[in-house]
Amino acid sequence: MNVLELYQDDGFQPRRVASTNGGEWAGPCPLCGGGDRFLVWPNRGKEGGSYWCRQCNIGGDVIQYCRDVRKMSFPEACLRVGRELPGPSYRRSVKKTQASTMQYHATPALQQETSVVDPGLWQARARTLVDETTYNLWHYQQDRWLKWLTSHRGLHEETVKEASLGVMLLDRWPEPQTWGLAPEFKEDGRVKRVWLAQGHTIPLLEGSEVLRIKFRRPKSAGDPRYLFLRGSSPQVRVINPHSLSFVIVENELDGLLVAQEGSSLGIGVIALGSASVKPGSLAPEVQAALKNSSYILISLDFDPPKDAEDKDAWAGGKAARAWLKKFPQAHRWLPVKGKDVTEMWQAGVSIKAWLEAGIERAIKAKEAK
Ligand SMILES: [Zn+2]
Repeated sequence: MNVLELYQDDGFQPRRVASTNGGEWAGPCPLCGGGDRFLVWPNRGKEGGSYWCRQCNIGGDVIQYCRDVRKMSFPEACLRVGRELPGPSYRRSVKKTQASTMQYHATPALQQETSVVDPGLWQARARTLVDETTYNLWHYQQDRWLKWLTSHRGLHEETVKEASLGVMLLDRWPEPQTWGLAPEFKEDGRVKRVWLAQGHTIPLLEGSEVLRIKFRRPKSAGDPRYLFLRGSSPQVRVINPHSLSFVIVENELDGLLVAQEGSSLGIGVIALGSASVKPGSLAPEVQAALKNSSYILISLDFDPPKDAEDKDAWAGGKAARAWLKKFPQAHRWLPVKGKDVTEMWQAGVSIKAWLEAGIERAIKAKEAK
């Protein structure tokens, strides 16, 4: 049973409004009415699709639909859509983290770490946010938000869609418990709200599961430029994990650009998200993929401080050294113009030719050894 079928069963006759994401339907919201504010994507994600109301902001998967619209409990909703209830280990872990929430109240000052106490709720909210932000990108202020990704960062519309990039039009500050998050406290003892920042959204997805959402705030908004949604996983983005050659970059949008331009070369890309990520901190399967690869091009940001005497001692250089040490087939391959691949693309350099030259260099270096 998918979300569209449930929605039609509830007496609505939605219109098909787009063919993106396996088809998009629009109709009135079962909760707040209207004409076409309720959007349904029956083929999005793994099972049963998803929905989102632009007005009252309800949204989620097929289970959440049963809960929001039909007011079912979680077990009833699972039964209705023919899905098994999560096993006892899930319940146990939820119970355990709930117990630790109590400690948060008791000793707020000692608790710095973010924790997700209700993974199902966090997931449903994150999924809805991805739906909302991708919708925004393709429907509002395209000249500003979409164009920045395509004209300024070099991404094709297909790449933007595939990566589910989106935009938050305004800042929003929900209470942590509405996201299934344990509270964090400010110095004055008040609860810190979750920050959903205005700007581009860069989600990391695995199937229909959201691993993290990163916000990239516009330059005019000041620092921080990038921030993670609380509760996000810190793991790195890996594109083409079974490739025989990899490029390692820092920035995720750079990584998408390299993967797009290098797609005919079948090159794999790892975007660290930060130059300070150490090779040893990667997930074991990522380390294994790199270990088994033939060539690795290290292209961490070339951005030394102006007064640096030792150009290799800044973060990008230091980080690169750690990679070169760990993987004998790794080769440092810096942009030939600008400080990163996007600046190089902006300067008119062919990223594909740059990749080909890098691999050639790595082959020669290997032969010489
Ligand atoms: Zn609504």
